[in-house]
Amino acid sequence: MSAAQATTNLLQFDREGLVEWFARHGHAAFRARQVFRWMHQKGVADFDAMSDLAKPLRQFLREHATIAALPVVTESRSTDGTVKWLFDVGQGNAVEAVFIPEAQRNTLCVSSQAGCAVNCKFCSTGHQGFSRNLQTWEILAQLWHAEFTMRRELGLAEGERAISNVVMMGMGEPLQNYAALVPALRTMLDDDGYGLSRRRVTVSTSGVVPMIDRLSQDCPVALAVSLHAPVDALRDELVPLNRKYPLHELLAACRRYLDFAPRDFITFEYCMLDGVNDTPALAQELVRLVRTEQVHCKFNLIPFNPFPESGLKRSSAARVSAFAQVLLDAGIVTTVRKTRGDDIDAACGQLAGEVQDRTRRVIRMQQAAAAPSVRLSH
Ligand code: SAH
Ligand code: SF4
Repeated sequence: MSAAQATTNLLQFDREGLVEWFARHGHAAFRARQVFRWMHQKGVADFDAMSDLAKPLRQFLREHATIAALPVVTESRSTDGTVKWLFDVGQGNAVEAVFIPEAQRNTLCVSSQAGCAVNCKFCSTGHQGFSRNLQTWEILAQLWHAEFTMRRELGLAEGERAISNVVMMGMGEPLQNYAALVPALRTMLDDDGYGLSRRRVTVSTSGVVPMIDRLSQDCPVALAVSLHAPVDALRDELVPLNRKYPLHELLAACRRYLDFAPRDFITFEYCMLDGVNDTPALAQELVRLVRTEQVHCKFNLIPFNPFPESGLKRSSAARVSAFAQVLLDAGIVTTVRKTRGDDIDAACGQLAGEVQDRTRRVIRMQQAAAAPSVRLSH
């Protein structure tokens, strides 16, 4: 091979994609499957360590392929066990992933974009602007690194998994990076990959309606929808994408999704902003909305995590519990999210990474309101 010949990063493919790549190069499907397992089940990146592959195949892979992780810029550890990694994705951009250990599960919060074009008022990522979509391998490399780092650290036996749940709740709007997202999700679910149950992989979206429908067909994992307001006028302000896909359409998409979802409810996330969306009257409106639209749901109230430029404040604990009580009284399961990793700024909406904003705010606003799967020209 000449030094200039490009190699392919095999983390870019789901199993089907890897089989195709192998076939294109004259190699059998079962070989692809072996390599897929070495990568995602054992965390092996060195072809020479793949002992059940014939020598000529290893040689071919060394010449034409890599298994390349993302460089880690920093690793921060909270006193509560939360770990946050900042990964370099090139050209001055960096994204974050957060490992959250709990008694019954270990969750990894994964990023889908460098920045975000939706520009929600209360979100630090949104304030940073949008740089670019992550590729499939960049999404999977976060899981790959976290899984095998934590496996070693926790001293797990071979075959035991460190991460039981993945939430696409890091930086970015996953449904505005749909093409890269789906193979990453499939690899998480694949028994030859991470073998996670559909119920334990959650896509969180600010409400990209057409892509919710596509996800229900292509890879129906658990769905969380960031609601934040029960009426369009307020939601337009908080989540600009609402101007394109208003509540009535969004909730109809949620209802349709339930026919395919691995759980019989949608999780609605609601960021509690002092004096903005946290009154008991708005809680009543929420109850009315989900009843009228007939969406079986649970609520997850997230105390707002402040960041300097937002100009917003966290609702008091008393207001959050009064709001929750209205929902509970209406028979809706409601939880208040515990804030984790406070001391390392690892909480929801605080993931800032490092983003070279390639948009001007006005373009970003139009962008958010325009067609789904947006690509900005660089
Ligand atoms: N773009 C997707 C997923 C990433 S954000 C989405 O919006 O759903 C993950 C969750 O964090 C969303 O529910 C989002 O509304 C919430 N969030 C964003 N900024 C926040 C903040 N400053 N405090 C608390 N939650 C926040
Ligand atoms: Fe983007 Fe989600 Fe942040 Fe909104 S809350 S700006 S959709 S990452």
